[in-house]
Amino acid sequence: MIGLPRTPSSKINRANPSTPGGSRVTEENILVTVRMRPLNSREHAKYDLIAWDCPDDHTLVFKNPNPERAATKYSFDKVYEPTCATHEVYEGGSRDVALSALAGTNATIFAYGQTSSGKTFTMRGVTNSVVKDIYEHIRKTQERSFVLKVSALEIYNETVVDLLNRDTGPLRLLDDPEKGTIVENLVEEVVESRQHLQRLIGICEGQRQVGETTLNNKSSRSHQIIRLTIQSSLREIAGRVQSFMATLNLVDLAGSERVSQTNADGLRLKEGNHINQSLLTLTTVIRKLSSGKKDHIPYRNSKLTRILQNSLGGNSRTAIICTISPALSHVAQTKKTLSFATSAKEVTNCAKVNMVVSEKLLLKHLQQKVAKLESELRSPESSSSTCLKSLLVEREKKIQQMETEMKELKRQRDIAQSQLEQERKGKEQKVARCLSYTAQEESTPSKSVPRSRRTSRVKRKDNVRQSLTSADRTALAQEIRLFEKNQKKLGEEANQALDLIHKEVTSHKLGDQQSAEKFAKMLSEIRDMQKSNLIPEETVVGDESNLKEEINRLNSEEIAALEKKLETVQKFIDMLASSYQTDEETPEFRTQMKKKRVLPFGLSNSPNLQHMIRAPCSPLSSSGTENKAPESNVVSARDSRTPSKEGTPVSSSRQANSVDVKRMKRMFTNAAEENIRNIKDYVTGLKERVAKLQYQKQLLLCQVIELEGNETAESDESQMEWPLCFEEQRKQIIMLWHLCHISIIHRTQFYMLFKGDPADQIYMEVELRRLTWLEQHLAELGNASPALLGDEPASYVASSIRALKQEREYLAKRVNTKLGAEEREMLYLKWDVAPVGKQRRQQLINKLWTDPHNTEHVKESAEIVAKLVGFCDSGENIRKEMFELNFASPADKKTWMMGWNFISNFLHL
Ligand code: ADP
Ligand code: MG
Repeated sequence: MIGLPRTPSSKINRANPSTPGGSRVTEENILVTVRMRPLNSREHAKYDLIAWDCPDDHTLVFKNPNPERAATKYSFDKVYEPTCATHEVYEGGSRDVALSALAGTNATIFAYGQTSSGKTFTMRGVTNSVVKDIYEHIRKTQERSFVLKVSALEIYNETVVDLLNRDTGPLRLLDDPEKGTIVENLVEEVVESRQHLQRLIGICEGQRQVGETTLNNKSSRSHQIIRLTIQSSLREIAGRVQSFMATLNLVDLAGSERVSQTNADGLRLKEGNHINQSLLTLTTVIRKLSSGKKDHIPYRNSKLTRILQNSLGGNSRTAIICTISPALSHVAQTKKTLSFATSAKEVTNCAKVNMVVSEKLLLKHLQQKVAKLESELRSPESSSSTCLKSLLVEREKKIQQMETEMKELKRQRDIAQSQLEQERKGKEQKVARCLSYTAQEESTPSKSVPRSRRTSRVKRKDNVRQSLTSADRTALAQEIRLFEKNQKKLGEEANQALDLIHKEVTSHKLGDQQSAEKFAKMLSEIRDMQKSNLIPEETVVGDESNLKEEINRLNSEEIAALEKKLETVQKFIDMLASSYQTDEETPEFRTQMKKKRVLPFGLSNSPNLQHMIRAPCSPLSSSGTENKAPESNVVSARDSRTPSKEGTPVSSSRQANSVDVKRMKRMFTNAAEENIRNIKDYVTGLKERVAKLQYQKQLLLCQVIELEGNETAESDESQMEWPLCFEEQRKQIIMLWHLCHISIIHRTQFYMLFKGDPADQIYMEVELRRLTWLEQHLAELGNASPALLGDEPASYVASSIRALKQEREYLAKRVNTKLGAEEREMLYLKWDVAPVGKQRRQQLINKLWTDPHNTEHVKESAEIVAKLVGFCDSGENIRKEMFELNFASPADKKTWMMGWNFISNFLHL
């Protein structure tokens, strides 16, 4: 019956509880047994005597033939008499040591003794038993799987040879940091079965026998090591990845007598050139190890001791079977053997169970775990799935919580968005209002265009792009046509104004030769203009009209011609008005006045003109009684008198009417002046409408271009990031403000209000478009930029400069009330205002908003103006009160107080 390998308790000196790796370490002495063979035939033949007695299993006594000498006693772990069979020797201790390799402990069985003492005989038997026992154990230990490997080598003359592959020649020894000394390229055969192992061992045996015959009893001088590597692990069901790993060395040493010859006697080996270095080192190592001194152990002095280092005082259980001859003739050699055996008894080994982690097994193990987890996940009722379920429930809760939070966040976002939207709409409405035609102009035709569409006309490019669809194209085309209608209407009215002036000039026959010539010239100019009054027929455009055609039509010079015409008309009016000043006292004046009454009637077909002109002599006039009286007088005078071309009054009535004539003269003068004024107002109104028309044209052009651009390719601007775009636009706006002499309060308001918020885009764009248009317009009119007009600005910029001056005066007055004394002084210092002087406030204000290139200057200027007009105090209310960007009603507000009223101011509107 084979049990698990166990160390004989008597041999265990002490044991550490565990190694860091968790393996148990056992310190034990080498197990030393002595086997005495029977006398062989040769010894029998020589009548040799048996010199040794075995009183018990542990004792060997030399039977000294000389009775006077005391018998020498030797004690060992076990002593086997010649009658003992090999299996008894094996089972008596070696078996236990050998089979400990099955449980992960390295083991070594030595056979030591002189030649022919029975080493090979014993080791052969032991090996057979080991093989048998190993396979018996494997068969019985089904819970573990075993892997056996075998290798075999021979050391002869310090040359290592592979017994399983002799062709490889001498093998090198290498030092491995983990495994210790290893034999390079030593074949290690995986053993498939007991028979396989026995066959391989047989091969080794055969190799040795070959050597024996060919190399002159070589085997007595060579060491043979059969090494079995046994790895075992619990089978898969146990799920363990660690396995036992141990080596079992079965060592058949060379004959020990050589040692005695070289070592004990100091003599050289007679028949060989080499001492047996390995055997010599082995005995030295054993002797040193047994001495207990911590001397240097010369393992490295021989191949054998290097290979078996672990077996000699290291991580291994070791059993040495010393074989001896019982013959008296071999007593000396036997005593040497027993001396070696005695030393070996004292050597302690530190064997531990070697555990290794098999990568293959680890991988397999992990795969199994994964498979198990997967199957658990699939089956809802498994134990770990209960745990998973609770995890899922928890996760579900978290998801719900996050969803709630997200909802709340979305709600807050929507609120913020709607607030933004409202704010934006508010801005847009203001802008839309300012860009609208007057109610009168829009009343009828604009109804076809939805209000939302009109509002969106000025939306920023992105918005336009988003909203412009084919329907928008149609709407845009409709707006262009509406624009053209208005343009045509204005053209007609301008023509009427021209007619009016024509009549006025025609009837004006007063004055000297020079003025007559002037009027004649004027008349011819008017006639020329009238000739060119070819108002284009309204273009009939289908619904599928091309926007490019619309652009071409918009790009026509009609508005410019219209503006020019109105300028001329105004010039004539001015001339006419001045001529009245001089003609007032002339005799012809009365006659002239008589004709005045007819003039307004000519314009009565224009509802705008009716509204505008309230001529004192007009029957439609609802002026006071003062106007009615002269009217009736004029009518009666026209009936009773014949108008003379020379203007000579009728003498019969001169005296009687002298008082009335004077009165009438004054009344007519007043009426004429008022009439001229009204005509002038009318023309001014026309001009304002033309200006607005021009602006509308610009906007329409922009929209068409945007729409076309949207359908063809992305413009550079659209690709520009808003913050960059904002900065760029603001720079342009600041420059244009400067060039166009825009109100610095307006500049400040705008600058302070629009600081780059995305919602500001629409304002920025509108401001930029207007200013660009204005600058171009002024440049066209003045043939130079307003800023280049210098100290003698043209008439149309003069008023804006005047307004700016007034504005600066107004602001200067507020310096003392709005700024503290200390703050004032600091500003004077900062803005290089002279330390003393009367006009310091004005000097400071005059320096503000004068350097459009300097952003810091602009910023500080805006801050100062903002303080002076109190923007800072009113906070957000600024937004509501500020930008009445409306062309329509400038009259009741100071021009510089409202941003865009300056246009009419500039244009003398
Ligand atoms: P060694 O290997 O030590 O040189 P061997 O094992 O070759 O010696 O033994 C020499 C001879 O002695 C062999 O023929 C062997 O059969 C025989 N022999 C050795 N020991 C015994 C034994 N215990 N019983 C019977 N014969 C033995
Ligand atoms: Mg032998």
